Amino acid sequence: MQSQQPPIRAAVTGRRGMSSAAQEEMATKIIYFTINGRPEQAEFPVDCPAQDVKDLFRSAAEAGPHDILKLYNPKGNIVNISPQLPPNTPQSTYKLEVVAADCNSDPLGILGLEARARLRLQSLEKKILIEAGETPTIVHEMKRQVESFREKLESVEHLSWLGLFKELSDATHKPSPFYHKRTLRKTREECEHVRDKFLKMRQWEDAEIMVLLQVMYVDLDFISTFNIELEVLQQFLYEVYRRYNNIPFHNFKHCFCVTQMMYGLIWLTDLRSKMDSIDLLTLLTSAVCHDLDHTGYNNAYQINARTELALRYNDISPLENHHCAVAFELLEKVYPGHKLCVLATDMTRHNEILNKFKSILSVFDFGNKDHREVLMMILIKVSDISNEARPMDVAEPWLDCLLQEFFNQSDMEKLEGLPVSPFMDRDKVTKPSSQTGFIRFVLLPLFMELANLFPCLEQHIIHPVRKALDYYTEMEKALERENLNRAQIDKTGKSKEPSSSDSKEPDTSAEARSNLKPTAV
Ligand SMILES: [Zn+2]
Repeated sequence: MQSQQPPIRAAVTGRRGMSSAAQEEMATKIIYFTINGRPEQAEFPVDCPAQDVKDLFRSAAEAGPHDILKLYNPKGNIVNISPQLPPNTPQSTYKLEVVAADCNSDPLGILGLEARARLRLQSLEKKILIEAGETPTIVHEMKRQVESFREKLESVEHLSWLGLFKELSDATHKPSPFYHKRTLRKTREECEHVRDKFLKMRQWEDAEIMVLLQVMYVDLDFISTFNIELEVLQQFLYEVYRRYNNIPFHNFKHCFCVTQMMYGLIWLTDLRSKMDSIDLLTLLTSAVCHDLDHTGYNNAYQINARTELALRYNDISPLENHHCAVAFELLEKVYPGHKLCVLATDMTRHNEILNKFKSILSVFDFGNKDHREVLMMILIKVSDISNEARPMDVAEPWLDCLLQEFFNQSDMEKLEGLPVSPFMDRDKVTKPSSQTGFIRFVLLPLFMELANLFPCLEQHIIHPVRKALDYYTEMEKALERENLNRAQIDKTGKSKEPSSSDSKEPDTSAEARSNLKPTAV
């Protein structure tokens, strides 16, 4: 749509078949006219074809092939655009106007639209400029809109090649090459839209997370090794997504975090050179499935409240058995009959599994099936509770979510008169107190054993966890100081006003903390 016409004065200078000498001798005519107030002059041979003269004026008006041109003489009468136009002077100009386009030949209504908008805008601007003395904001805004419309048209110019878009200029216009300089450029709208999305994006969307999980399966060659059809994998991942509930912590994003950690561990420890593909597939799939259909209430609640799950599984890891059962139901399609290591994520089996691993560590043999199975259980346990190995700004919000889910449960337990685990009790637990004990007594001992087998993991999982421990220890100290101060103020207040009933403060005394059991995931 950009005007590529040569300067008007140089246009239509000769006739085909005439010698240049003859052309030079031929008489020419100069017509002075204005277009949108802008003075122009057209020069053409007196006997050139009428169509050439019309094209010349069309070029001056930057009009499309279907636009209608109107030429007014100095008296204001419409005159025919032809070589017979009476010559004039710069003082008595003709006036050229583009008044309409032929819409029938432009089914999309796009041809010449932008040119007309630009022309109207120019004349409007001129008018306003004359009346108001300066260009008002509205004109700037309209200019911006016309400009952006032009960019849009240019960016889809190549569509005309596919027959989806009509050529915009006259017949002499050569088709632009596909990689036209302007079509390479992104439009402002496109960029701004992406920029907005980019700056606002704090969370991956669930559909994107499914793609990331899919990438992990592809990356680890599972698709080719096990002949898994991509559609089947996608259906499986979608079913997995559907069966994670909308709860604060044990949701689809937790599933992703655990799987991502497993994926990272597989690469970091070069497990592909040490174990069979089927073991790796089991590991990744176990991570994907390990909390399927979690309802936000842990095993203790299931057992104490005699839920259907606890009855079904005879109080033995009711949740993990349920995650497994749901997983098997989904997995039938992908690789029927294979086991998973989801059961290992029940934290009541933590010491049993860790001790087993410790006992074989000094003689660990990747060729030994039993050894491999214990390692797989350790790997999924590490992935499951690896939150504190993540950057603090990722890890801390997850802790808030976990505590929210714990508090929901303990509130329910109190309502139903069931036993309440101290580490879930909003009256007893604080954020730092829940973490320091957990990191010190559960997380670090587990992670360090795995790092004994794979020293390269030290920097990836041990260092950040130690940092987190320092962070929460500091926070705990600060909270204790604050509570001490508050207790003293309370004491003074109470002696004056004995009816004070502020008893909701978290109890962070050493005695209370000694009751706190490690956080279970
Ligand atoms: Zn989990």
